[in-house]
Amino acid sequence: MTESATAAPPVPMLKFHSAWIDDDDCRAVVDALKSGWITTGPRTAEFEKAVADYVGAKFAVGVTSCTAALHIALLALDIGPGDEVITSPITFVSTVNVIHHAGAKPVFADVQEDTLNLDPASVAKKITKRTRAILPVHFAGHPCEMDEILKLAKKHRLRVVQDCAHSLEAQLGGRKMGAMGDIACYSFYATKNITSGEGGMLTTDSEKIAQRLRILRLHGMSRDAWKRYGDQGYKHWDVLEAGWKYNMFDLQAALGLSQLKKVDAWWERRRELVAKYDEAFRDLANVKLLRVRPDAKTAYHIYVIQSLKKKRDEALNGIQARGVGLGVHFRPVHLMSFYRKRYGFKKGLCPKAEAAGDRVLTLPLYPKMTDEEQQRVIQAVREELG
Ligand SMILES: *Cc1c(COP(=O)(O)O)cnc(C)c1O
Repeated sequence: MTESATAAPPVPMLKFHSAWIDDDDCRAVVDALKSGWITTGPRTAEFEKAVADYVGAKFAVGVTSCTAALHIALLALDIGPGDEVITSPITFVSTVNVIHHAGAKPVFADVQEDTLNLDPASVAKKITKRTRAILPVHFAGHPCEMDEILKLAKKHRLRVVQDCAHSLEAQLGGRKMGAMGDIACYSFYATKNITSGEGGMLTTDSEKIAQRLRILRLHGMSRDAWKRYGDQGYKHWDVLEAGWKYNMFDLQAALGLSQLKKVDAWWERRRELVAKYDEAFRDLANVKLLRVRPDAKTAYHIYVIQSLKKKRDEALNGIQARGVGLGVHFRPVHLMSFYRKRYGFKKGLCPKAEAAGDRVLTLPLYPKMTDEEQQRVIQAVREELG
């Protein structure tokens, strides 16, 4: 009301994330809608094949989310009550919730200070007679020390389920990661590197595991049951176990397929943005950047910095006040109320994860971002933390 007519209009808040949905994506979904087949069908099968090829696995099973994928991954490996699963506290909570839902006990190993990925040495210390699996999370899209983790798994006869929600494009030593361990789980949530709206996928090189996953994702129904009744007439199905309603459907797959065409171009753009951020912040003594292994292709999913002097929330609020939306990835899961109460986890369990959890903040990083928008972010961070 009292604003002067000459004052500059307020700059709108730069979004922390913005999915890039173009006309091709819209057409693909409308085509699927008009095709007469809405639920799990040919487009899901096509998206499964495309993702399997992209991540270097023989089989892929589409589901409603990465959370659903992680859940049935554990069930397909017969992990349940009495079992322990070792994972990272620096992850989204669903990685841990599914261990609880499977009836197993989540066990947290600490992270490496400079990547915030699981530290294999800490994992080794957490292995007990009850340990059944390791669940590494490729934080920010940067591959974990998979050689060490797979070695530990082999030595102690453990399963490995990868949380690849951040790491669709990642490679390690030139190898694609979708077939490492027993199962890899991907996310196509709205903020991930590509999206199917909501959606997830499991990949594996084991036909047996893939078959079990297909049964678990759809009520435990067996499509092959009809064979037992002969080839003629009505095709009956059987229920082999109490499964879940987790199937990806064709509208999701149509969007996912269209988005997958852009995955490498978008990765290139994020790489460019990350290089500019690194360059702009390298000289800031109060800011710690994440390390990237020279033999790794990171998926550049999120750009995380750590505020070493200023309190994170103060820095976060200061940067947001300058018109830049931020995220926090992640405050450690073991210190969330439910996990403290239910499992008795306390501060001190994973000191490096806890220190990082107090310092991390995530800057905007998405291909739709312009150079000018990135300059705004850089300026806000340098003013606040320089
Ligand atoms: C997003 C995310 C998930 C969950 O993915 P949804 O598809 O939303 O279920 C799991 N783990 C990590 C590390 C994530 O970032």
